[in-house]
Amino acid sequence: MTKHVLVTGGAGYVGAHACKALKQAGFIPVCFDNFNTGWREAVKFGPLAEGDLLDRARLDEVFAQYKPIAVMHFAALSLVGESMTNPSKYWRTNVMAALNLIEAANDAGCDKFVFSSTCATYGDQDGVVLDEMTQQRPINAYGGSKRAIEDMLRDFGASHGLKSVIFRYFNVAGADPDGEIGEQHVPETHLIPLMLDAIAGKRAALTVFGSDYDTEDGTCVRDYVHVSDLVDAHVLGLNWLLDDKPSDVFCLGTGNGFSVREVISQSNSVTNREVPIIEGERRAGDAAVLVSGSVKAKELLGWQPKRAELSTMIADAWRWHQAPDYKA
Ligand code: UDP
Repeated sequence: MTKHVLVTGGAGYVGAHACKALKQAGFIPVCFDNFNTGWREAVKFGPLAEGDLLDRARLDEVFAQYKPIAVMHFAALSLVGESMTNPSKYWRTNVMAALNLIEAANDAGCDKFVFSSTCATYGDQDGVVLDEMTQQRPINAYGGSKRAIEDMLRDFGASHGLKSVIFRYFNVAGADPDGEIGEQHVPETHLIPLMLDAIAGKRAALTVFGSDYDTEDGTCVRDYVHVSDLVDAHVLGLNWLLDDKPSDVFCLGTGNGFSVREVISQSNSVTNREVPIIEGERRAGDAAVLVSGSVKAKELLGWQPKRAELSTMIADAWRWHQAPDYKA
């Protein structure tokens, strides 16, 4: 049996780590990427199928060439702030592209789908611990676009027998512990990489987006999960589907919330330097608290995060920031 898995966005941050984990687990990850935000250097764990998800003919070609046993779908735009100012970009790039991909997979007879969704589908829920049963009420177009794709997967499951595992990520952080790949976005908008760039003197300072939230220190609280642990869950999710288990949804987080100020303080300790900060306004679309229940993936998939400490995530990211392949 062919062990090809089509990995959309395989040249991006989470997708590239997934390709590495798939290769280590004995699969052949086929990286499908248009390099709008991905990095060619990150494609090193399997073949590259360059293309755009909105190009249905190209997708059909790739399905015919590799006959993947499953799809892992990472390719997406994922910036909360940008999704608030340019929602059409999110509905087109995320939702229309996903429909194309799901239809192409379905027509090619590829009926297993692992999907990268997000805790941004929950919206702002007054600090409740979010789990798979929590009602989704997105407050930004990014979260809305991901929820729409979840709905699509469920509809194709009911009508065509498509089997899916949906992962709702909390805040992905860290980098490959071997230092081969890591996070780099242009422009960078995420807290930990921006903070490390400020520590390294590549940026003047880190702006704290809002200090008047209803949290202990007034800054937003997030649940950070190591990218290597996250992709381990994806391999477990893929095997779950290959074992003919039913479609399901899993939250991926550690269950521990850290405020922006706590992340800053841990970064100062890990790097032994001080992040220069500026107090700023709230960023539109940000929920005050997003923390996962984080039990189901452990119980059903047997997921065991190995790098669950925030300090480990920051240390791995810091090592990557000093690697030759990292470009700020
Ligand atoms: N954040 C911040 N300054 C920045 C970037 C992010 O204070 O320059 C805050 C942001 O408001 C959020 C948290 O850090 O509360 C994590 O944001 P990030 O963009 O990393 O991830 P998101 O939660 O949007 O997925």
